[in-house]
Amino acid sequence: MAEPGNLADKAAAQASIAAALARARAALHTRSDSPQLDAELLLAYTLRRPRSYLGAHPEQRLDVATLDRFERLMGRRAHGEPLAYLTGEREFWSLALAVTPDVLIPRPETELAVERCLALRTDAHADVVDLGTGCGAIALALATERPVWHLVATDRSSAALDVAQGNARRLGINNVEFLRGDWFKPLNGRRFEIIVSNPPYVAAADPALTALRFEPVTALTPGNTGMEALRIIALGAREHLVPGGWLVLEHGTTQASDLARALVAAGFTRVRCYADLAGHDRVTEAQWT
Ligand code: GLN
Repeated sequence: MAEPGNLADKAAAQASIAAALARARAALHTRSDSPQLDAELLLAYTLRRPRSYLGAHPEQRLDVATLDRFERLMGRRAHGEPLAYLTGEREFWSLALAVTPDVLIPRPETELAVERCLALRTDAHADVVDLGTGCGAIALALATERPVWHLVATDRSSAALDVAQGNARRLGINNVEFLRGDWFKPLNGRRFEIIVSNPPYVAAADPALTALRFEPVTALTPGNTGMEALRIIALGAREHLVPGGWLVLEHGTTQASDLARALVAAGFTRVRCYADLAGHDRVTEAQWT
């Protein structure tokens, strides 16, 4: 069967788990990098079971209503909707985070920003702010790793802050304060040991945005160059870091040298870029002295 649209026809109504997965895999074949995994995760989600259930019960028959729900999810996936929006969840730093189309889906490479924050300050109390927190990924990961830190998580989108606060509540994380507003505006002159951010950094004309069309465009692109938000944060951070404090920024793979220049021009020292697991320049840190 080439199209997921026929899944719920009469012949398929008695399909087993194994048969439904096989058809779904074929339907996603050219439309996903991981058709098998996507099909399994969506069927497990439809059945409200762990993925391991599917392998343990390949012969189980699915009723028409279940097949219908599965078919509709498969259709959305085949049209490019990200899996995390279909299931409403994505794992980051071993935390199961709720996501909605109001927030960017957390990426594995953003864990590098978390790692750098943890490496820069290993024990003592610290005030740390995550600017543009989205679903809360960076702030919540740091808050669980360093229970003695006080985290501030900001976002200008109240819908995003709702998602982030819901995640904190569900995970029982109490050391994060949520503030709504653009970049530094809600901080009222407060200073921090670390400022971290994964701001929008994709240039407005970048063709990559097509593949990201289901995610909030304001979380992806700050303007024509892609550097706009990074520059605003590099300049503003000077007023919000304690002496010796660190700025940790995620950025695009070709932006490291422009960003380093902007940071040096702004008066930062010890500017250093780190590559993600794919070998791409991804996170730059700099110290304010
Ligand atoms: N890393 C994201 C992507 O290119 C972009 C995230 C961002 O702009 N902060 O898929």
